[in-house]
Amino acid sequence: MKKFVQNEFESAFAEWLGVTRAFAFWKGRVALYAVLKAMGISEGDEVAVPGYTCVANITPIHYLGAIPKYVDILPDTYNMNPRALEEAITSRTKAIIAQHTYGIPADLDEIIRISKKHGVPVLEDCCLALGTRLNGKRVGSFTAASYFSFQWSKTIRIGLGGMLAINDRSLVDKIEALRNQSMFSPGMLESTLLSAQMLAYGLLYRPSTAMFLEDFFRFLTNHGLVVGSYSLKEYDGSAPPHFLKGMNRVQGLIGRLRFREIDTVISHRRMLQTIYEEYLQKLNWPVLDDSVDSQTVLVRYPIRVKRKFQTLDDAYRDHIELGSWFDSPLHPRGTPLERYGYVNGTCPEAEQAAREVVNLPLHMRITPKHAETIVKWLVENAVPANSAISMAGQSHQLRTYKLSQEWMHEIEDQV
Ligand SMILES: *Cc1c(COP(=O)(O)O)cnc(C)c1O
Repeated sequence: MKKFVQNEFESAFAEWLGVTRAFAFWKGRVALYAVLKAMGISEGDEVAVPGYTCVANITPIHYLGAIPKYVDILPDTYNMNPRALEEAITSRTKAIIAQHTYGIPADLDEIIRISKKHGVPVLEDCCLALGTRLNGKRVGSFTAASYFSFQWSKTIRIGLGGMLAINDRSLVDKIEALRNQSMFSPGMLESTLLSAQMLAYGLLYRPSTAMFLEDFFRFLTNHGLVVGSYSLKEYDGSAPPHFLKGMNRVQGLIGRLRFREIDTVISHRRMLQTIYEEYLQKLNWPVLDDSVDSQTVLVRYPIRVKRKFQTLDDAYRDHIELGSWFDSPLHPRGTPLERYGYVNGTCPEAEQAAREVVNLPLHMRITPKHAETIVKWLVENAVPANSAISMAGQSHQLRTYKLSQEWMHEIEDQV
């Protein structure tokens, strides 16, 4: 019995990416969960992931009883270090997650070579890399499966939403079977709340209110008033009921509409990136290395600073939209690392990046004028980091980050 038929967003997405089939889900992490499950990942299997990611990538692995194996990153691309990957592979490794961090493509040549050598499939995490190409080909189309997110901080925003792209016929059949057997439809209440939230965000957002809005939505989430990106149950060890959830009709329609503008979104992002780099270079600040070329579509522009948390605090005060992910090897800060098997010191480059990297916005509401204001502010208020200097002593806590920690504790209290 076919309960879920392909919608227009899915078919347009698959065609654009050049893959066999795309499947829409409630969130990106649900897409990951679906593909891991369809691949038969289970109790005791190991999944190699970069130790510089968000906890949303780890919970689906945990729900299946599998074990994340954290692989350190390269300091210049923020992506998985292939040498460290090869060292992390064991006979129990059943999948490799190649995350294209900030939109910068991972070293797929090497990662795929290693995957073939050890007979372990690669999943591309394209949640931050919609539109990036590598050797002319879009990321997400190199391997059997990849997944994308349309959460409100990503390249194309629906509010919440995810897409799984499959390039392997037998895996397509397995995902279809899984959806028809076990996928839930979002409830009326959460669908309505999500729509209201998207509307409110659209109405309230200004570059100068971005930081405030984040706090505000976090506050509402704490009080159960919006459909948050992280749900309380997710911090538990087992999949929350109804986790395997599809995309609702409104998400699908908005997704399809926003996706029509993908070319505009990409050129806007590239234009802002050029502006940031021109200003930064003029002011003797470092820019991304050559691997970030004209084929890269960034979700945010990463930059390393000294005293990161003080800088973020100051930006918040001055209404400058400065972002920060990842704040921890498993974002957000306050994630109980031991619960997810991350041992401090495992990925030193990732930990260093988490202490230093802030990011600049590239979304549609940022104009060249805003970009100029942000860079000017940055140059006056921050100091570029020399990664050789240890930032381990840094203890400053900023307001937003205190808030997010309180939020995490609240979550801890409830699970
Ligand atoms: C956002 C994100 C995800 C998860 O996406 P959701 O839609 O929030 O579930 C996974 N991986 C990375 C790298 C992300 O940035």
